[in-house]
Amino acid sequence: MRRFFIAGNWKMNLDRAGAVALASAVAKGAVEVGAVDVAVCPPSVYLDAVAQAVRGSAVCVGAQNMYSEPSGAFTGELSAAMLLDLRCKYVILGHSERRHILGESDTLVNKKTHAALAAGLVPIVCVGEKLEEREAGRTADVIRTQVDGSLAGISADQLRRVVIAYEPVWAIGTGKTATPAQAEEVHVDLRKLLAARYNADVAEGVVIQYGGSVNAKNAAELLAQPDVDGALVGGASLKADDFLAIIQAGVELACGR
Ligand code: PEP
Repeated sequence: MRRFFIAGNWKMNLDRAGAVALASAVAKGAVEVGAVDVAVCPPSVYLDAVAQAVRGSAVCVGAQNMYSEPSGAFTGELSAAMLLDLRCKYVILGHSERRHILGESDTLVNKKTHAALAAGLVPIVCVGEKLEEREAGRTADVIRTQVDGSLAGISADQLRRVVIAYEPVWAIGTGKTATPAQAEEVHVDLRKLLAARYNADVAEGVVIQYGGSVNAKNAAELLAQPDVDGALVGGASLKADDFLAIIQAGVELACGR
C-alpha cells in the first residue's frame, strides 16, 4: 500500500528567521498525519536550522539539489553525505527549474540519483513536459525519455526507494493546475512504463507525486486520483496554513485508500 507523501519545495525563498518560523509552524500543525509522509525542502543554507526546528515532529527535511560526486573540486556544490550530515532524508533531483534554467540533463540527474541512493537518501526525481510538448501530443514521449534517462541503471530494489514527481512545466508556479484527469492519465502511464521496465509489483509500490500549482483548494481532488500519491508543492508550501491544509487533505483521503 502506497503512502501519501506531501513535500514542500521552498525554492530560493525566505530568510533564516522566516524558514525557522515556517518549519516550526508546519511541525506544530502536522501532529496527526498518520499514513501521510511530510517533508519540507528549504534552501540548503537553512537545512540545519530547519532540521532543528522540526526535530521530534512528523516532518522530515529534504534538499532541493545535490551533486553526484562524493567530494572534490566542485565549487558551490553539496554532496549526498553533506545532506545526510544535515539530517536530510530526501533530495529533489531534476526539478524543471534545474533542467530548464540551469541546463541539467537526464544524464546528470541519473548520476545524482545513483549517488543519492548509494548514500541512503530518498531521491524525488522530477519529470514533466513543457506546454509546447503537450500541445504537440508529445507528453508520453517526453516522460518516457526523462524516466529512462534519469533512472538508467537503477535496479528494481533501488526503485522501491525512489519517489517520482510528475510536474508538468506549464503548471509550475503558473496557477494553472493539471486537471485531476490529466494528472491521473500521466501517473497511470508512468506506472505502466515502470511495470514494463521493471515489474508490476515494483511499479505498484512507487510513490508518484503530482506537482504544479497544488494549493489548499485543489489538493483534495488531485489526491483523490488513484495513482496520485501525494504532492510536491511550491508556492503554497510557503504558507503554513495552506501547506497544512494540503497535508490534511491527504490525511482524510488516506483513510479511504
Ligand atoms: C514546484 O516547485 O515543484 C512546484 C510545483 O511549484 P508550484 O506549486 O508553485 O507550482
